[in-house]
Amino acid sequence: MLHLLQPKKNLLLLPALLFMLLVPVIGGEVPVDTEYNDGPYIFYQGDSLEARWVCNGNAIITRHSSDDSIFPNTKCGKISTVPKIRQAVDEAEPIEFTDVPKIAALSDIHGQHEIFIRLLTAHGIIDNQGKWSWGNGHLVIVGDILDRGPRVMETLWFLYSLEAQANAAGGRVHVLLGNHEVMVLQGDLRYLHPKYEFVAKTLNTDYDELFSKKSVLGHWLRTKPVTLKINDFLFVHGGIHPQMLDLGLSFTDLNTTFQSGLDYSREAIDQDEALDFLYGGRGPIWYRGYFPGEKNELNDLKPILAAFGVQRIVVGHTSMEVVSAFHGGRVLAVDSSIKRGETGEILIWEGGEFFRGTLTGERMLLGQ
Ligand code: ZN
Repeated sequence: MLHLLQPKKNLLLLPALLFMLLVPVIGGEVPVDTEYNDGPYIFYQGDSLEARWVCNGNAIITRHSSDDSIFPNTKCGKISTVPKIRQAVDEAEPIEFTDVPKIAALSDIHGQHEIFIRLLTAHGIIDNQGKWSWGNGHLVIVGDILDRGPRVMETLWFLYSLEAQANAAGGRVHVLLGNHEVMVLQGDLRYLHPKYEFVAKTLNTDYDELFSKKSVLGHWLRTKPVTLKINDFLFVHGGIHPQMLDLGLSFTDLNTTFQSGLDYSREAIDQDEALDFLYGGRGPIWYRGYFPGEKNELNDLKPILAAFGVQRIVVGHTSMEVVSAFHGGRVLAVDSSIKRGETGEILIWEGGEFFRGTLTGERMLLGQ
């Protein structure tokens, strides 16, 4: 009896197995319009908090005490789990760290939350419950969480929570601004996934208003730096063009000046010499010249490395098939095309060596 049933069972199992294998590869199912669940977009309102959600395609508003330890996960499916909301902090975050024993970096997640989580889990940076498990390591997100894909809020709330967990363990999570964070904060909404057009319409607002200074995540993003130094590595989304050095900004001033322009209009930016450069094509969030054939291509990185006192620069923004090294290992490119929702890698530095970390948890020494 058992023997006769066996082949039938296998025949049924095969399509199911194929489906299970394919779903993570295509980035999970994306519901359409009236099935959309999203949020919460949480706003500071005096001593309390207002949360706006889209639940099965409908707007819902809930109000909470700022002491609520955790936000209720409403009945509408896969809405983000939200951690305890912290008091808004206005100070810029620290941007220089030394003696860090291990570092991981990736960029350009663009709403492909599943791939991001799979990479962190595969390399032990988080455990199977999604909690920080990398001790005193530093994880750097080299910009471009927003735009393109359908699960942006999941990544943002996840990182909001993870940075507190990492701090408590003696580690750190760093989120750097990319051009897509800046585009959304400044109201350039050309790259929204249709889901977020629907969400903004349903919540009766413009998408950028959901990330205004009064929102928890909008405020949080405005405290994030555009560059960061860990040990003798510099992290920046696009790259540093040598002309930027002519602005004569210190490392701290580079970040505070950049942040000061986040809520400026295009006209106001154009009228300020430093901001005009920092937000332009050769500025740190847009520049691509470290790669062959790109505009304003740069061959000699020595003046930049010397000016910042670093040995290497880690950048995202310019998409590669895999994490790659250029200029004899002076430039490490971590945009591994996660945005396609199919694959991705993470750069890992540990024991003095660089590795490409794959989705299956494999570590390959990075050729230079
Ligand atoms: Zn970018």
